[in-house]
Amino acid sequence: MTDKVDALVIGGGFYGCVIALFLTQHNYKVTLVEQKSDLLQRASYVNQARVHTGYHYPRSLQTAASSAQNLIEFREFYDDCIDSSFTCLYAIAANGSKVTSSYFERFCRQINLPLRAPEKQLKKLFSSRTISAVYECEEFAFDAKALRDVLLRKLNAAGVDIRLNTKVDDVEKASAHEITARISVGDDAAQNTETLSAPWVFNTTYANLNQFTDKKSTRPVSLRHQVTEICLLRVPEILENVGVTVMDGPFFSTMPFPARNTHSLSHVRYTPHFTWHEQDAPDMDPDKVLTEHAKSPRYEWMLRDSARYLPVLENAEYEDSLFEIKTTLEDTQIDDARPIAFHRDPAMERFISILGGKIDNIFDVLRVISGTLDLDE
Ligand SMILES: Cc1cc2nc3c(=O)[nH]c(=O)nc-3n(C[C@H](O)[C@H](O)[C@H](O)COP(=O)(O)OP(=O)(O)OC[C@H]3O[C@@H](n4cnc5c(N)ncnc54)[C@H](O)[C@@H]3O)c2cc1C
Repeated sequence: MTDKVDALVIGGGFYGCVIALFLTQHNYKVTLVEQKSDLLQRASYVNQARVHTGYHYPRSLQTAASSAQNLIEFREFYDDCIDSSFTCLYAIAANGSKVTSSYFERFCRQINLPLRAPEKQLKKLFSSRTISAVYECEEFAFDAKALRDVLLRKLNAAGVDIRLNTKVDDVEKASAHEITARISVGDDAAQNTETLSAPWVFNTTYANLNQFTDKKSTRPVSLRHQVTEICLLRVPEILENVGVTVMDGPFFSTMPFPARNTHSLSHVRYTPHFTWHEQDAPDMDPDKVLTEHAKSPRYEWMLRDSARYLPVLENAEYEDSLFEIKTTLEDTQIDDARPIAFHRDPAMERFISILGGKIDNIFDVLRVISGTLDLDE
């Protein structure tokens, strides 16, 4: 028997959950399918948890400005999941930075991002040899666990049919207005296959976005993947309520990671362990690459280099490393932009693949979905 719904959403990360909720609020009967045993377990959990407000993108004015705009909506819906209690510092490296302090100040003025002088005792933490300027900024961290709880509660209240431990194996166009999906449930997949059918299918599987694409006949979204490592740290007391980002080049960032009540540390040079371009290796399966990757933590390198800029980090204690695939659109390398992909398969126009480079881009996605499905605002 085939279950029929108005929309099928594949992938229970932040994007899939919010899209499922949005469609239900517009009277769509929605099924959300997630292969893991819980929602928000993959990239939506394993990331730096930064709620972007714009500072991070001095080389992409458009991304910075849209971050500032999306923040207003993010706070409106998910304020309970945001940690805004810490002091956020951005520092400019004296050497090797792609932006200077005067450029950064001009950029912030241009899009009205507040910059303040940091407290003296915080400024003193930075090495005057390697850091040319430090600013206090307004940026926050999200709690992925809290987001998961809020979304689960809202999805249940809205009546979304959530299928966990369930994988979409294949999709097929049944007619102009109907797509069928073959799904397998639980570990004993061969025994438990079902079909679902819907006029609209939203593919929000992030690193696996092209898994349903017939690479011979259609144009997949052009993706770059990296196996990445986020370190979790116990920072010295003086940094407990502080987040630090050194701009803009092969530097580091450490900030609160609310889901584990600790700090994350990422380093532009060491966080990516391995990079590949899907167009060069279309058969590489990101999940398989992640599973098979030798996960040797690089915290010693990350900490040693970061302490050159913020010496107090020498006293940080390493706790853990989280590994995840980071996926971006190919043409975002030059200015570090994080636009969205909204890809309608030419052979199956109601099959829509969506990739949001950062959490708050969801609001751009909802606006495009609204226009595509002609939904009332
Ligand atoms: C290291 C790193 C740091 C980052 N830092 C930040 C940051 O600080 N701030 C920020 O805003 N963004 C950041 N990002 C980006 C952010 O994490 C992503 O934009 C966001 O999580 C994408 O959400 P998603 O729902 O599309 O993906 P995911 O959360 O990965 O969800 C995709 C889901 O699809 C499921 N799935 C896949 N295939 C199938 C299938 N066939 N059937 C059923 N389910 C399937 C997966 O199990 C997964 O749960 C970072 C990302 C990484 C990796």
